[in-house]
Amino acid sequence: MVKLPRRKCAHKACRQWFHPVRDGQVVCSFECASAIGKEQTAKAREAAKQKEAKRQRTEEKEARQRRKAKGESFKSKTQWDKEAQSAFNRYIRIRDGGKPCVSCGSPLIGKSNYLTGSAIDASHYRSRGAASHLKFNVFNVHSACTRCNRQLSGNAVEYRIHLIERIGLDRVTSRADSIFHTCRESNPYSPAEHARWRSAGPAIRRPHEL
Ligand SMILES: [Zn+2]
Ligand SMILES: [Zn+2]
Repeated sequence: MVKLPRRKCAHKACRQWFHPVRDGQVVCSFECASAIGKEQTAKAREAAKQKEAKRQRTEEKEARQRRKAKGESFKSKTQWDKEAQSAFNRYIRIRDGGKPCVSCGSPLIGKSNYLTGSAIDASHYRSRGAASHLKFNVFNVHSACTRCNRQLSGNAVEYRIHLIERIGLDRVTSRADSIFHTCRESNPYSPAEHARWRSAGPAIRRPHEL
């Protein structure tokens, strides 16, 4: 039998030169073979552990994303309503910029002048409670002072007088199809309108904000 060339033991802690007695022998002794076997088992176990940990992380991440998506669809109705409402109110404030309170006619100064009662509210001629389908109707909502809107519940008689001046008698009273004569059933609240205000939100800016 041809004598095989000597080689170094594959066990890292050993690395002794040895003469293999068979092909493919990479360790010098049974002890080194068993040591290497143990190392390989430990390595395989470690790899499996890491793979399992990674799988768990991915699973948790997916679960978090599912919960998040679910949470967003849960909050969507009130959250979207808020977003649409704030975009709509911003539009009203900008449209009525420089105009006085729609009810009492007192000048409207910015938010900073809160104590004098001149802060600006978006006042609904027909209230959101009574006519929710008109809550995003631009004819139904005008800038008013907080005194009229909150303490005097819109100051309706005065509101009506000035509303007629602003949008015309037809729209307020006489026309058969006046928006203010419609009830919720004949003119139901439109989700499309809601979506329009919501998506328009970021685009509604005062001139100096552009
Ligand atoms: Zn060895
Ligand atoms: Zn007022």
